[in-house]
Amino acid sequence: MLKASLFLGVNVLAATLVVACSNGGVDHSIHQAVTDNKNAKSLIEWEKSDSHPELLFEQWRKDAASSPEKKASLQERVCKELAALDGEALSIFDNEIHAEKNAIVIYTCKGQLLEKIEEFYVSQRPAAEVLAPQQSLQKAHFQFPLNVQKRDTTNGYFAVTGDVARKEVILTFDDGPSERYTETILQALRAVNAKAIFFSLAKSVRSNPEILKKVAADGHSIGSHSITHACLGTSRACQKTNGQVLSFDQAAVEIRGGHQAVYDTLGWVDPFFRFPYGEASPELKNFLKTNSTGEFLWSIDSEDWKAQTNEKLISNTLAQIEARGRGIVLFHDIQRRTAEVLPQFLAELYSRGYSVVLLQPADMNIRYNSKLVKKKLP
Ligand SMILES: [Zn+2]
Repeated sequence: MLKASLFLGVNVLAATLVVACSNGGVDHSIHQAVTDNKNAKSLIEWEKSDSHPELLFEQWRKDAASSPEKKASLQERVCKELAALDGEALSIFDNEIHAEKNAIVIYTCKGQLLEKIEEFYVSQRPAAEVLAPQQSLQKAHFQFPLNVQKRDTTNGYFAVTGDVARKEVILTFDDGPSERYTETILQALRAVNAKAIFFSLAKSVRSNPEILKKVAADGHSIGSHSITHACLGTSRACQKTNGQVLSFDQAAVEIRGGHQAVYDTLGWVDPFFRFPYGEASPELKNFLKTNSTGEFLWSIDSEDWKAQTNEKLISNTLAQIEARGRGIVLFHDIQRRTAEVLPQFLAELYSRGYSVVLLQPADMNIRYNSKLVKKKLP
């Protein structure tokens, strides 16, 4: 869920207009962000918000850099308004508050804001012993039996449920690897022998290659999810998110580049691709097919990008699983909420009799011979 920085131009312009037109600016923008996050029915709806935290901070950084006076008054306003949010609402700004580049905007209150977010998460952990997510794993008293299933992608493959049977789920983690959360997520999965598919972003892979190697070492499947998380389809929502519709060639570069980054890091990549936001076009679907690569959607959306309590995240996701009885679950390993809830979520899955499926290509050699990548010369 990282925005494609290539296309930020138009969005920033839009954000500037919002800030300039609104009375009070900062407080309006922050409250609009909280409202938009709450009302969004899908990730793309949230990402195309003119008040998305990434856009707001981008604008504030520019304003703060323009003059010392502006910087001082902006810091004061942003700090005041963010500090007034409760922990749950503040959590949608989590990644931006952490980002080093944003220190110029929130220098005076960064520590205080981070403490509040920390408190929000810690207060929701099991009351008896307040443990960090990875510590609580030592208590895992169950193991999922290994359930590997093969899918043939030679002539393409389109997955919504992954064709698993009742009481079977496939876990998927998008947008990583993240230096903050992926390893915590790996520990949670390892503790109970659960295997997943990771749909990695090239720009995250290039920043965190060692973490991707740890994902691979744990035996998970690894597909890709584009280079920059640009919206590759031709819908209006894509146009709004990118500021333009990508040409077929531009989209193909994104798809190839996602696969190439994983291949360059590991020497292999599974023939699995997930379109950012699930947005595709017939031409791009066909492109995957002719490159013997499967297209993965999902049938159960954790909505882990939304401000919510851990309990709500778990109960909403489980309710969808129980309603459908099976399917592909979408999480993001860049979301702290997911790292926090995963041990408890996995325990609930197990106690309800679900099996976690590891999907692999029918022929494992295809991993080393993806048609989407250029092989390194020996
Ligand atoms: Zn994504």
